[in-house]
This record gives sequence, C-alpha cells and structure tokens, in this order.
Amino acid sequence: MRSGMWGRGTATRSRVAGVLALAAALLAGCGTSGASRTSGTAYSRASADGPAQAARPLVVDRGLRAHPKVLRRDPRPGPPHPVPSASAASPTPTVPVAEEAPDCHKVKCVALTFDDGPGPYTDKLLRELAAYRAPATFFLVGRNVAGRPDVVRRTVEAGHEIGDHTWSHPDLTRLSAARIRSQLGRTDRAIEKAAGVVPAIVRPPYGAVNRTVRRQVTRPLVLWNVDTEDWRYRNSARVARAALKDARPGSVILFHDIRPTTVKAIPRVLKTLSKRGYRFVTISEMFGGKPPRLVYGGPGPKAR
Ligand SMILES: [Zn+2]
Repeated sequence: MRSGMWGRGTATRSRVAGVLALAAALLAGCGTSGASRTSGTAYSRASADGPAQAARPLVVDRGLRAHPKVLRRDPRPGPPHPVPSASAASPTPTVPVAEEAPDCHKVKCVALTFDDGPGPYTDKLLRELAAYRAPATFFLVGRNVAGRPDVVRRTVEAGHEIGDHTWSHPDLTRLSAARIRSQLGRTDRAIEKAAGVVPAIVRPPYGAVNRTVRRQVTRPLVLWNVDTEDWRYRNSARVARAALKDARPGSVILFHDIRPTTVKAIPRVLKTLSKRGYRFVTISEMFGGKPPRLVYGGPGPKAR
C-alpha cells in the first residue's frame, strides 16, 4: 500500500463513507481523487464533473485555427512517439523518446500529466505547452477521443505522449477482467484511428488498482506523486501553487485539462519550473522509454 505518499485527501474512509463518495462520483462524473489503492480498502473519491461534460459538442473550436502556429513553434523534430500495436501486449513496452530528451537521472525532470480529455480547452493548453517547448502526457478518455479526434491528432503531432485512461472512466477495480480489457481496447482503437498511435501507458481512473487490474493491464500503470486537486479547486492561482509547492525532481504532476482554470494555471507552472531549472518530459521520456510496471514518480539527480 503506497497511500502514504499521497498527502492530502488520502484518508481511508469507512465503508459507508466510501460508498457515499462513490455514489457522488458516479452521479457527478469523473474527477480523480488524490488517493490510490492497491488493495480492497475504501479510499477518497470525491468528484467533479468529467468526461460526460467534456464530451459535449463544442460550438466553436478555436484551436483549429491555431494548429499551424503550434506546429511552427514546436521544436521537436520528426513524428512523435509512434508505438506499434504489439506493445499493448508487451510486459515491458519500449517507447521511442525524443532525441533531445534529457537523462532524468542527471537533470531535474518533471512530467506534467493531463487527464480526462480531450476537451474544449485542450487546444489552448497545446499552445501554452508549445510556447515553452514542453512535452507533456495526456491520459485520454475514449469517448472524448471519439468526440474530438482532431484534437488528439494535434496533440500527437505536437510531440506529446498519449496514455489510455479508459473509455468511460469507470473504477476498474469493480469491473470483470473482460470489461477492463474492453474499456482499454476500445480506447486504444479510438486513439489509433484518430492519431495513428497506440498508447504504451495506462492511467487507471481514480488511481484505483487491484490484482485483477494489474493482471489485465500489461502496460505500465501510471499514477502520480503530485496532486493539484484541480478538479476540486477551480482557481488558477491555487492550482499553480499546488503544483509548484510539491514539485521535485521526478515529479509526476496530475492535472485535468477539461478544467479551464487548470489550463489558465499552466503558463505560471511552466514559467516557474523552467526558472527553477526543470526539464519537461513525457512519462516515457522520464524513464528512457521503459517505464516500470507501476509509476508514481520518476528518477532525479541524487544531489540537487
Ligand atoms: Zn480521470
């Protein structure tokens, strides 16, 4: 049990409280709690809105016009991280990393991760990341991918990594093995259709993992060690502060790009971490293309 790493929001709840929280989460939609579990105990799972809301059709997609600009400003050469489908079944997937990706054992790296998209604000986020030449990792919800395949294509073209965050954001620990595979497989196919890549990494909704999930998911399960709780605090300054306060070498920072307040916080996060000497990397880059089976955080230089 690694829940001790999770800080705020990690309280183990009574069974009743857990059930109530789950009911609230199911009613409200998504929202990733700050807690994780690797066993059967109840855990915090308060929620905000989620994929259902994010998947609503957008009247005006302002990102479309910005696409060429993003590509021009993106310095990362070549096609981004194509992953053969076979890696989905490989126990230790190897992912191509950018030539200029740093060695995170030697320099200070941080991985910005964005869950539950694509959404209406993802294109704006892509522009902010491009301005700082910062690759990030997007854990996509399949039914949102199906609604915005063009955003997924632009995300991949800009050099970011894509992870599988299930089709409809269920708690995988409550599903049968067959349904777990279906949730991930359907999302893989949507992402491949949209952008020509198959995710080599998976983030389980709510960070919920048990033995069945670990058995069914042969790709690395990517959790996090810095939770901005941006689904709870819809305030850009607070989201930025939460990210910056806890950022360390090897941090995997959890955001949700379906929140406009989160996207608005990102320039400050990028600016401050850059000033502190951090390099931004994707999850696969953080591990030289070979993430471990269970990821909370990455390596960092011994002396800093
Ligand atoms: Zn999520």
